[in-house]
Amino acid sequence: MAETDPYRNGREEMVEFQIRARGVRDKRVLAAMRKVPRHLFVPKDWERAAYEDRPLPIGEGQTISQPYIVAVMTEQLDLSPEDRVLEIGTGSGYQAAILAELAGTVISIERLPDIADRARQNFARAGVTGVKVVVGDGTEGYPPEAPYDAIIVTAASPTIPEPLVEQLAEGGRLIAPVGPRECQDLVKLVKHESRVETIPLGGVCFVPLIGQFGWRGEEGP
Ligand code: SAM
Repeated sequence: MAETDPYRNGREEMVEFQIRARGVRDKRVLAAMRKVPRHLFVPKDWERAAYEDRPLPIGEGQTISQPYIVAVMTEQLDLSPEDRVLEIGTGSGYQAAILAELAGTVISIERLPDIADRARQNFARAGVTGVKVVVGDGTEGYPPEAPYDAIIVTAASPTIPEPLVEQLAEGGRLIAPVGPRECQDLVKLVKHESRVETIPLGGVCFVPLIGQFGWRGEEGP
């Protein structure tokens, strides 16, 4: 059969050399990263760079995250097919498309309406169904569909927004970049009956999470 995806080899190499070689082992995560066509989630001018080992611009000062970081955050969520997942920061929609391969329900909140529209177009182009995109301030979570088995925050805030911890189910996992404006610590929370366990996962650099329980504006908290 004729090869129709010119980026298939690039995607295989991305998984092998950027992701598996750095220690991501979850077979379902690796399969999702092999399957989802990342080049359909970046602006046309950046398409040839889609499988490089770095974040890329998607407009309005926002980015699609580095593939390795997407894989690590997804692996840490430890998803099951029935899980309900909330993503804060839809951006290109790529991370949500990966989540949709692994979980039952994916809701993704984006603050900027134009970015949300583009993500919806990207889902249509890539044939991704089952992601609900909501425009709003994701630092408040999304109470109508709470609680969530997993919450992933893909923009950085000074502290973890409290509404997100409240909307996490028992046994739920939350992953978020937390710390200063430029670069942060990736932090995982696991909610147990009477306490929240905090696990540090290393350094990352994300664009700011702007909202009531994040950074308050372009200039600071
Ligand atoms: N997950 C994205 C992807 O796969 O392309 C990358 C997300 S990008 C690094 C961060 C996104 O978070 C931006 O699109 C930005 O507009 C959005 N954002 C920032 N603050 C937000 C908030 N309070 N609520 C929802 N989205 C927010």
